[in-house]
Amino acid sequence: SAAPSRAVSNAATASRSRSTSVLPATAPEPTEEPDPGQPDKEDDKDKLYCVCETKYDEDKSMIACDKCDEWYHTQCINIPDHQVDLIDQFFCPPCIAKNPNADLKTTYKTRCLYGLDHPDPTSPKSCHKPARAFSKYCSDECGVSNLRKRIDVFAKKGGDKDELWQAVKNAEKRQGLVKCVKDDHSVQVITPTQGVKHKEMNRLDRLLDDIQKMREELDRGLDIILWREKLISLASGRAEKLSTCGWDQRLCFSDEDWAEYGEGVLDTYEDQAMEVDEEGEWWCPGNPDCERHCGWQSLRLKELDKEKGRKEDALARLTSKEREIRKRIEDTISDSINR
Ligand SMILES: [Zn+2]
Ligand SMILES: [Zn+2]
Ligand SMILES: [Zn+2]
Ligand SMILES: [Zn+2]
Repeated sequence: SAAPSRAVSNAATASRSRSTSVLPATAPEPTEEPDPGQPDKEDDKDKLYCVCETKYDEDKSMIACDKCDEWYHTQCINIPDHQVDLIDQFFCPPCIAKNPNADLKTTYKTRCLYGLDHPDPTSPKSCHKPARAFSKYCSDECGVSNLRKRIDVFAKKGGDKDELWQAVKNAEKRQGLVKCVKDDHSVQVITPTQGVKHKEMNRLDRLLDDIQKMREELDRGLDIILWREKLISLASGRAEKLSTCGWDQRLCFSDEDWAEYGEGVLDTYEDQAMEVDEEGEWWCPGNPDCERHCGWQSLRLKELDKEKGRKEDALARLTSKEREIRKRIEDTISDSINR
């Protein structure tokens, strides 16, 4: 396995939300801190990127693979520039080829409905931005444009715009409780459906919020698993090279430790001096069949695999739950429109 590059370390600290790992060619020059979601120009002057194996070229859009964290030119992997924003998770061709059973597929975010409803949705001129959370549109502009378009269609089919306007403009005002005093003086409170819908929408929105938080938590966990996998591979390589046990104590680091020291850990392997562990602090100097740690490589990898599987299952469950909720939101909305 190759020595970790800056891009790798950077990518691991960046959010797993892929919008941050996309580097548009038109991006303005970073002013102060380097963008964590882009290859470091200084350290990687000679590093070769992408399937085309060329040096870093700031004029070309790049995207990082969510498995190997290597960077690829969007052009070389046939992702049109106008589609880059829509990518949720990207997997590079080599990773897909190397893991035929992992079912790695590049996934896309839900696209702005104004773009999807465009007469030619494949045209780069149609909106290709992802829809905002809780919305079908990327922006208010697109939402208004699409509504306007639909009203025009409605009018062309003989609908009465004024009537439509009258029907919708008071929609918000229909809230408020209706109290019926019955003959026996008991009071019956009728909650107007609008109010109920409003409450239901709030509830669904909160559920989506919760899902988002859980997803972020799981993503962080998966990032840390990625770090751990890298450390195992680096430590194994070192152990083999030096013919020692090579167990790295930092494999026991907690998630918090990783969040704090993660990058530094992998950096200690970048150093040529890694063969000499002066302080003797991290690596077990014992024989390859050291009794305390024998077989640590495969044991640790198995553990990680299990944890990863659990987290990915949880993510998949969240995704279907989210889909369910979005469907309910849509139903609630179209219900109000069609009433
Ligand atoms: Zn390329
Ligand atoms: Zn890859
Ligand atoms: Zn849009
Ligand atoms: Zn040992």
